[in-house]
Amino acid sequence: MMKKINYNYLPQEFADVEDIITDWRALIKTCDFTLGHAVAKFEEEFAQFVGAKHCISTNNGTDALILSLKAFGIGRGDEVITVANTFYATAGAIAAVGATPVLVDCNDRMQICYASTMNAMTTKTSAIIAVHWGGGSPLITDFRQVCDECDIPLIEDACMGIGTTIGGKAAGTFGNVGAFSMHPMKSLNVMGDGGMIVTDDDHIAEWARKYRNHGMTDRDHIEFWGVNMRLQPLQAIVAMHGLRKLPKTLEIRRRNAAILDKGLEGIAEVNIPARLWKMEESFCLYLGLFESRNLLQKHLSNKGIETKIHYPVPLHHQEAVDNFMGDNCKNATYQADHVLSLPVHQFLTESDMHYIVESVAEFYAR
Ligand SMILES: *Cc1c(COP(=O)(O)O)cnc(C)c1O
Repeated sequence: MMKKINYNYLPQEFADVEDIITDWRALIKTCDFTLGHAVAKFEEEFAQFVGAKHCISTNNGTDALILSLKAFGIGRGDEVITVANTFYATAGAIAAVGATPVLVDCNDRMQICYASTMNAMTTKTSAIIAVHWGGGSPLITDFRQVCDECDIPLIEDACMGIGTTIGGKAAGTFGNVGAFSMHPMKSLNVMGDGGMIVTDDDHIAEWARKYRNHGMTDRDHIEFWGVNMRLQPLQAIVAMHGLRKLPKTLEIRRRNAAILDKGLEGIAEVNIPARLWKMEESFCLYLGLFESRNLLQKHLSNKGIETKIHYPVPLHHQEAVDNFMGDNCKNATYQADHVLSLPVHQFLTESDMHYIVESVAEFYAR
């Protein structure tokens, strides 16, 4: 029987929003529309969720990355290493502060490659942005170590890594700063844009809190020039509701991913990234490498299964990249041609997951 399996789960997630609207009504009565109680409360709850000392919310994940770089004074003349298979914003944030993005390759697990990073280090390297791609993780403690040795900050792009843990410790808490996004397609999402950084560093936290609010110490005094990167209180309320459901969301996504892992294991044309011991992925995306990817995508679409490609054009092949620096990124190039994201979201049932497995198997059996 033909099923309909949507990639986009937002209509289901926001089918019943009465609780959110009740809290919105209360907020509207207070007219506390810039920062204020709701934002402070969300920041406190999120810091607690990931086990960080401070959380500073922002307008979106891109701002969270820009704020992270700015907090360490990174700008013109600096090189920042990141990976070629990430969302544009990782490199865009580096360019936005005036620094140069140095793109390195990913490994077989589609995460930033350690060896490739080491090869790209120069005397101008001012930070590394390690991305938790798809909600999986690089060997983050290795990156922590090299940043300590070189005395440069490690910034984690954990935009897809909300809920990811490594040895029980949350993604985003290994770096000097971790940046997160609450874009509608992330594991914790709002009804629009939202983001945040976390850090254990009191000084960085204090600076970032001011910078995202014009550098204000109070209404009439500016300590340094900042900008407005504030999270909307209406979205902070949506985020707090999402945070309450997040453990369940992650549990179902992990169950669904495990069914795909097991079902796809025996198919020679399919290559699923190895799952590492003590690494609990968020499965913001369920990524795999598939032979004849474009034909498979068409076949799945005919079976009613919607899939996505994250992303068909890697960063180092984008027109925006002038003066390409870094290595040849051959894994990232290969992966862009083979990667496919299968639906894994929390509204899919076990039987939906088996249907996806069967449909992939059917394609390669022909
Ligand atoms: C989504 C995402 C961002 C950007 O977040 P926005 O909230 O959309 O600005 C940055 N990096 C990665 C890896 C992402 O997935």
